[in-house]
Amino acid sequence: MITLEMPAENLLRVGKATAKKLQNLGLRTAEDLLFYFPFRYEDWSKILPISQLTYGSAGTCRGRVELIKNTRSFHKRKNITEALVSDKSGSIKVVWFNQPFLTKVLKVGDEIFLSGRVDFDRFGIHLTSPSYEKIRKGEEATHTARIVPVYRTTESLTTKQIRFLVKLVAPLAARVRDWMPPEIKKDFNLVNLSQALKQIHFPDSVSVLKEARHRLKFDELFLIQIHNLLLKANLQKSTAPAITFREAETKKFTGALPFKLTDGQRQAAWEILKDMASGKPMNRLLEGDVGSGKTVVAAIAALNVFSNGYRSVFMAPTEILARQHYETLRGLFNDFPIVVGLLTRTNVMVKDPKDLKDLNDREDIDDCKMSKSGFLKQANEGKIDLIIGTHALIQEKIKIENIGLAIVDEQHRFGVKQRQALKGDGEMPHFLSMTATPIPRTMSLVFFSDLDLSVIKEMPVGRKKILTKVVAPENRSKAYDFIAKEIKNGRQAFVICPLIDLSDKLGVKSAKEEYKRLSQEIFPALKIGLLHGKMKSEDKEKVMKDFLENKINILVSTSVVEVGVDVPNATIMMIEGAERFGLAQLHQFRGRVGRSIFQSYCFLFSESENEEAAKRLVVMTTCNDGFSLAEKDLEFRGPGEVWGVRQSGMPDLRIATLADYDIIKQAKEAAEQLIKKDPELSDLPYLLEKLDDFEKEVHLE
Ligand code: ADP
Ligand code: MG
Repeated sequence: MITLEMPAENLLRVGKATAKKLQNLGLRTAEDLLFYFPFRYEDWSKILPISQLTYGSAGTCRGRVELIKNTRSFHKRKNITEALVSDKSGSIKVVWFNQPFLTKVLKVGDEIFLSGRVDFDRFGIHLTSPSYEKIRKGEEATHTARIVPVYRTTESLTTKQIRFLVKLVAPLAARVRDWMPPEIKKDFNLVNLSQALKQIHFPDSVSVLKEARHRLKFDELFLIQIHNLLLKANLQKSTAPAITFREAETKKFTGALPFKLTDGQRQAAWEILKDMASGKPMNRLLEGDVGSGKTVVAAIAALNVFSNGYRSVFMAPTEILARQHYETLRGLFNDFPIVVGLLTRTNVMVKDPKDLKDLNDREDIDDCKMSKSGFLKQANEGKIDLIIGTHALIQEKIKIENIGLAIVDEQHRFGVKQRQALKGDGEMPHFLSMTATPIPRTMSLVFFSDLDLSVIKEMPVGRKKILTKVVAPENRSKAYDFIAKEIKNGRQAFVICPLIDLSDKLGVKSAKEEYKRLSQEIFPALKIGLLHGKMKSEDKEKVMKDFLENKINILVSTSVVEVGVDVPNATIMMIEGAERFGLAQLHQFRGRVGRSIFQSYCFLFSESENEEAAKRLVVMTTCNDGFSLAEKDLEFRGPGEVWGVRQSGMPDLRIATLADYDIIKQAKEAAEQLIKKDPELSDLPYLLEKLDDFEKEVHLE
């Protein structure tokens, strides 16, 4: 007897090799197969008399094999199987290619179903390579004469094999426990889970298939909402330092800025300060386009935390960015007695305010350097007020109590583990994450419902629009002439190279080649720099520093290397293989220029002949708004592509998508209704168990 836990290997017709292939699809057990949903269906349910199978039609017929034989085509050395099949209404010729075994499977006299298309060519009118299936008494058809499921598969495993195995395990659907509370099923019109699982594979009709899909999509979206609501409630149960608003210091800080805050910045800062005053941990995402000025907002938060006697940590995705944030923040806090520290793998730095002399254990390398152990000791004793570093380093090395605020740049949220690490044994800190990636509304409804959101909508005034052009291959040299002219005028340029193939995970190959080409052939007289992810971080820092100081004219970089650094003098962003990037991502690259009074340019190069790709790129030339570009991305490429599932922390759903707007809303409502009644879900052990499995499966952390 088959059980849910049974390894796929023990199923009928599965040998070691097939088991391995199944494993590659993540299918290890009978249960895995049951939850491996088809990605589309073919409706072969209508059975027609053979006489109605006319040229151009498609359908299923039921007949008797009258004749079957293999022949060889003369030129192409293909094997051809020809058969004649008849029913009461007539007969039809059937042709298959390169399946000589068919004469062993189908014998004269067999009753069979055939589903396929009717063609007309040198064979005359015939069914061409139809699906076939012998009719067995008391057994329903699997591959023909029904709505047939089609599964995603790998090269060496056929959808027919998967279908056969799923059919074997399908009766287990009746044994899967329905964890959904009955009242939710009733209120939201959901069919039973076992019904849904059976019908999702072998639907009796289009309408029950719809119900099955609805139920299974609802399940995923509902579990995400429950997950988020529990996270939120959990956080609400703990306390965090109450950070009171320090008006005088804040005014002094904003007054010293060389610009006025935008309304968006003001509003965001106010929302953050209000959260932090509450005594409950803040859990806020600050979203704002590249260059909208998120850093000052974070600085205002850190300043208030400092004035309340607590410390902040500020985490960046890369060392280069951490360094840049350090430079920026120590500048911003120049007139405040705030000790700002930078922790990277290769060095540490501390900005030691003049009126604060108690940083002992300093090695006098120069006035702002100390040893790493010295730094960590000071940091762990709480003597460094604002510690800047990469995510990994800070979590690993810093064991300070009294962190009042943790800021994370270019990340959507804090993970559970990350939170735990930052909490230590002390109180929960406030959490602020920042992102330049625009989050479409459905996205925030589904994945970010546990977070409070602040959005900076406008850009600081006076920014020049970046002129964007898609450059045709024949105009490449003109673009180079233009770049040469800009560089002569003292400006600088970025060149971004895409990944060429998957084996070259970091895009190193293409960047190196481009670097060689530009420095040897195109711009031999200019200074070209190269930046890629395989370089040592000292070397990366050195290249960035040289670029920042205009010792490098053109910086060739992989897309993988974060170029989120501020080089105001760079006015040209050139992107090779632009069609390989999402619009939102191109927009991020473009945001690296246009940070000064000089007019900036973005040139998109594309080798692709694909019209769709070209259309997509043209959008960049007219649209300057990251938010609409992200929406366009969703339209052109779908969420999976845009959001590179794992890396952005988006769970990998089996069946629900962001297009399921109505179900998203219902699932949210259902989850809220349930949690309101039973905040701990203590009466729903099956739901909690399912949630646990789900979180592991889709990597919700
Ligand atoms: P991002 O949101 O991409 O992190 P930054 O914080 O790096 O943006 O800010 C980009 C640039 O804009 C910085 O040089 C910063 O000093 C400047 N800036 C920030 N706010 C304003 C403002 N209100 N007016 C003018 N310039 C500003
Ligand atoms: Mg930033």
